[in-house]
Amino acid sequence: MQHGLSDRGLHRDGAGRRRHHFPHLERTAIGTIVKGGTVVTATDTFRADILIEDGTIAAIAHAIPAAGHTTVDASGALVFPGFIDPHTHLDMPFGGTTTIDDFASGTVAAALGGTTTIIDFALHTKGDSLANALKTWHAKAAGKAAIDYAFHLTIADGRPETLEEIPEMIAREGVNSFKVFMAYKHVLQVDDETIFKVLKAAARYGGLVQVHAENGDVIEVTVKEALSAGQTAPKYHGLTRPVELEAEATSRAIRLAEVAGAPLYVVHVSSAMAADAISDGRKRGLPIYGETCPQYLVCDASDYDRPDFAGANYVMSPPLREKRDQAVLLKKLKNGELHAFGSDHCSFNNCGQKELGKNDFSKIPNGAPTIEDRVAILFEHGVVKGVIGLNQLVALASTNPAKLFGLFPRKGTIAVGSDADIVVWDPGAERTISAATHHMKADNNIFEGMTVHGRPRFVLSRGRIIADDGRFTGEPGTGIHQKSAPFRPVQL
Ligand SMILES: [Zn+2]
Repeated sequence: MQHGLSDRGLHRDGAGRRRHHFPHLERTAIGTIVKGGTVVTATDTFRADILIEDGTIAAIAHAIPAAGHTTVDASGALVFPGFIDPHTHLDMPFGGTTTIDDFASGTVAAALGGTTTIIDFALHTKGDSLANALKTWHAKAAGKAAIDYAFHLTIADGRPETLEEIPEMIAREGVNSFKVFMAYKHVLQVDDETIFKVLKAAARYGGLVQVHAENGDVIEVTVKEALSAGQTAPKYHGLTRPVELEAEATSRAIRLAEVAGAPLYVVHVSSAMAADAISDGRKRGLPIYGETCPQYLVCDASDYDRPDFAGANYVMSPPLREKRDQAVLLKKLKNGELHAFGSDHCSFNNCGQKELGKNDFSKIPNGAPTIEDRVAILFEHGVVKGVIGLNQLVALASTNPAKLFGLFPRKGTIAVGSDADIVVWDPGAERTISAATHHMKADNNIFEGMTVHGRPRFVLSRGRIIADDGRFTGEPGTGIHQKSAPFRPVQL
């Protein structure tokens, strides 16, 4: 496999920067050609050139003549549809602080990792309107996002006014998914009555309900017990949220969806036991979808024991589980029992942010910086290790999220008419992940020191090159909001 860039049609200027060298042709150029690569979609793998015009894919053919077009060299590389991260939290307030990455830094880091669309959670607060929550998040993203973005809405209360807004959010605002929390009592958690009402409203109008499945009532008790026993270290975050409480909530949510006749998407499945609950629901023929995240494949509960409060960097909910859970989650990704791969990027510095919980694990802001390395982790631990194929990688990290969240086929595939969101991926490149070199703002990286193969050579967003050999070449503010079409059940 060829690693470096071919210099055909390119030369380096004095600053060492590669430039296209077709000045007389560029004036009349009508498009861009991604040339000489192996195109990989969720279903097919084939050698082809891709012609891009006006930001969309105009032709896919074996050998498109280069004349007149700007050429992007994909020789020796894999050509993926831009990856879609269905689960991000940028510029989000949490536990008295705010995530360190906003829509500018977060989307630049995403782009450098091969992600060309994110779906971020607009956070509803009790008593406020959904419209206002969405407006707040539009303001956070506009002028900052370097890649395209869509929104999910969280739902914090089941007031009639809130439920009545759901059809309008779907039909007019392009939000097709609504997330409810079964945990974070007194903050985000809603009761079963609310979950049931949201499920029914969403199902009726073309919405998909997402659920954070952990039993928040019981967790409140276990956390209080631990703290009153003087157990304040990060590892008690994990110990107070046992796997049974995730499995119970997952089963309960699935049963509620079953009674409501609604589809359901379970976010950030962390354990074998919870994933089994999803498999059981699907065996009953229910439209249940499961998502997992890179951290649950490669980090585990022993990370909470890291010295010097570094264990706090791994505090997230659900917490990290055991090594045996990692293997089961990977197998379920392979077998089609889990369907989407999100980052759950929610980044905080250790210094000044995670430290809020220095003497009380329950005050450690939950989350980790994962938006940049999501695809690399799945490529390494899925594809390179031989567990999943390239087509499955694309399905899990791009096509399935696009289908579930109403962006397909504009996003999530390489097809004529689709947006030219394209990743030219060098499969043989090798790098070591580190907070010292990553592009996220956080002062820590939970994958620190891990070696991964594969990295983007070029990333294109609607035909523009936004990442070139590890350098961001796009522009914050050029990302465009994408409306999601209403949810329709899909066979995944
Ligand atoms: Zn999340």
